[in-house]
Amino acid sequence: MKPHILYTKPSITELETRYAADAAAHGWGERCYEYLTRFEKGFAAHLGVTHAIATSSCTGALHLGMAGLGIGAGDEVILADTNWIASASPIVHLGATPVFVDVLPDSWCIDPACVERAITPRTKAILAVHLYGNVCDLDALLDIGRRHGLLVIEDAAEAIGSQHRGRRAGSIGAFGAFSFHGTKTLTTGEGGMFVTSDDALFERVLTMSNHGRARGQTRQFWPDMVGFKFKMSNVQASIGCAQLERIESLIERKRSIMAGYRARLADLAGVHLNPEPAHTVNGAWMPTAVFDPSTGVTRERLQAAFAAENIDARVFFWPLSSLPMFTPRPENRNAWNIPGRAINLPSYHDLTESEMDRVAQVVRSLLHA
Ligand SMILES: *Cc1c(COP(=O)(O)O)cnc(C)c1O
Repeated sequence: MKPHILYTKPSITELETRYAADAAAHGWGERCYEYLTRFEKGFAAHLGVTHAIATSSCTGALHLGMAGLGIGAGDEVILADTNWIASASPIVHLGATPVFVDVLPDSWCIDPACVERAITPRTKAILAVHLYGNVCDLDALLDIGRRHGLLVIEDAAEAIGSQHRGRRAGSIGAFGAFSFHGTKTLTTGEGGMFVTSDDALFERVLTMSNHGRARGQTRQFWPDMVGFKFKMSNVQASIGCAQLERIESLIERKRSIMAGYRARLADLAGVHLNPEPAHTVNGAWMPTAVFDPSTGVTRERLQAAFAAENIDARVFFWPLSSLPMFTPRPENRNAWNIPGRAINLPSYHDLTESEMDRVAQVVRSLLHA
């Protein structure tokens, strides 16, 4: 058996372990928020936003942000059918309805024309998820938002390092949400971040995130509302601070792995990797290969071929509307069709050139089979 290639694992150096040990030994009492505050301020500065609140997950950040925008019972939120369920579950838990629309064939992100057709009097927001690092068509989505009085929210969990017209993904919509799960470009094990440059929204979300206790409230243990508890710990934040000091190199390595696959597969017609339109930068979280229907390559053949080479490859997200708890929307043709002929490729920080050769060889062998 050839050596195993994982599809993902974090890059943890002496810096992360040093900060984590320091937080575990000293980050208590008066110093219990030191790494947290530093991580929030540093992350906000990296993105170019004014406010950031560290959370236990991206799911929690989305939940808080949508609650802060007043999304609730009777409201509809439009998002792409191609997504991880974490983008949809907070909508459901808030009593609102996720409306799944099709994705574009090249970016695999939400199709603005489909968004426009799905708008009803109940529509409150558009959730733009930058899939696998690919940037949504934000120009069109923001324009739809303006014309119809809808909020545009960014789930940028997969888009650290991605940019749209020189602005970082997650910093552009009403708020942005990030994930620091172990599979993501920057990790704290589990964790997330809510970011916004809207002062009023920040204050509401901050109060909600602290069990409803407002910053200015002088009475101790006095919540003014029923809030949430989705906090990050100082120990997790210490690892985040170390990762943040290395963020440029973490992003650069993701982008160089994507470029490496692109170079290795450039001569193959019929297989498409993540696009990077001229006005965007792709953070390249998850290099993904989508095969043309004419190649006859299927998910099952891809999984079998990678498994035979002892390489972990990950299936493309199932359409959320195909899951048992939602109404099927097979008319979302791209979202229902692409996963059957696509695969996510390994892309962890320490992936070697020869490991990339092995991955690319599997892709080649399928096209020439
Ligand atoms: C990973 C991910 C999430 C969930 O992040 P958690 O931190 O696990 O809650 C949400 N949205 C997208 C697009 C993701 O990739």
